[in-house]
Amino acid sequence: MPLTLKDYLTSPLADIRTLYARLDEPLAALDCGQQCARHNPAGKPFCCDICHAVPAAYPQEWTFLQKTTNLWQPWRGDECSQSDETRQLQLEQPENMLYLACLGPQACQRPFRALSCRQFPFFPYVSTDYRFLGLACEWEFESVCWVISHLEAVTEAYRHEFIATHDRLFALEQDIFEAYAAHSEKMRAEFARTRRRIPLLHRDGGFRLISPASERMARISAAGLPRFGFYK
Ligand code: SF4
Ligand code: SF4
Repeated sequence: MPLTLKDYLTSPLADIRTLYARLDEPLAALDCGQQCARHNPAGKPFCCDICHAVPAAYPQEWTFLQKTTNLWQPWRGDECSQSDETRQLQLEQPENMLYLACLGPQACQRPFRALSCRQFPFFPYVSTDYRFLGLACEWEFESVCWVISHLEAVTEAYRHEFIATHDRLFALEQDIFEAYAAHSEKMRAEFARTRRRIPLLHRDGGFRLISPASERMARISAAGLPRFGFYK
């Protein structure tokens, strides 16, 4: 749907309920949490285990969530005994976001998941010439996340919602676009260092591998995508 003048005057983050409704589709037909939790000694999906991933939210989300649910509280930093990881997270906390802790997967309230829960394990990939090309994976989770090793399982409906939501968000919130451009640059540097190509769920459909230095893209079939960790 084309953006209206009202859209430009009203931040989408001001209407969190609408934003959440736009990215509500499950990312796969099966429950991927059951696929990865069996590999986690804590028995939880890795992205819902505070010892592996701390959800971040925009301040506007936190304002909304505080009023509407008991699911979340501010992250204290002592929820997990793995203190080295915690210290690293404190160093990396995004400037424009807050870390939160939820009640855990047994008590998850699906309508009140943060945007970061909804988009995990993906982020919007932005090229050096500032084009939002598609969905790239949070590469730090390659060894534990089942989805990153099974990108073919991601539904077309989810891909569509992800692209549409971020197109809209970027049109209205330049800072968010800049943050993902920086994150994409960080990914290119890491993949160049390790001499790997970046898997991408392209916004036009299908899969690509991106060379981090030249940013040349090659089409690849789902069968040719890499697998990691437990899922090799
Ligand atoms: S997104 Fe990845 S880490 Fe999270 S539940 Fe699914 S497979 Fe597990
Ligand atoms: S809110 Fe739900 S989806 Fe998000 S981290 Fe907590 S348990 Fe996982």
